[in-house]
Formats: sequence, C-alpha cells, structure tokens
Amino acid sequence: MARTGGLCEHCLDQGRTELAVIVNHKVPLARGGEDVDDNTENLCGPCDTKETARQFGLAEPILGRGIGEDGRPTSPAHPWNRSR
Ligand SMILES: [Zn+2]
Repeated sequence: MARTGGLCEHCLDQGRTELAVIVNHKVPLARGGEDVDDNTENLCGPCDTKETARQFGLAEPILGRGIGEDGRPTSPAHPWNRSR
C-alpha cells in the first residue's frame, strides 16, 4: 500500500487521485497467484469491482459460471443462452 502512497493505481494511470481501499492480486490467489508485492496493486472500490469482474467473470468462465459485462451468464450451457 505504501508503494503508491495509498492511492488507486488504476486511477493514477488515468490521471485521477483516488484513495485505495483494497490490495488486489493481479493474478488471483485462487488462480495460483503469489502473495508478493509484485503481484499486488492498490485499488479503490470501483476499480476493484471492475478488475475482479474482469479476472473472474469476463476472462473465462469458471465451471461455466462466468458473468458477462452485461450481467448475463457467459456459459453457452446456461438456460439463458440456449437457443430455445
Ligand atoms: Zn480507482
């Protein structure tokens, strides 16, 4: 957290100053990511929500349970995505 002075790294990239509230793992621990500084980034609430959605929802469905950006399931096997 000290690395960026407690500010959100994604917001800094876009020239905004937002207080970070969460330390996110770039490679999620659930995906075998390491709990080291190189694998973390400091994020504000909204950026963490976006990043987590990207990591766990949009990147690839986990056991067919991913959710797309529009909030719909990404799995072709999900009833909403069947043709009938
Ligand atoms: Zn942010």
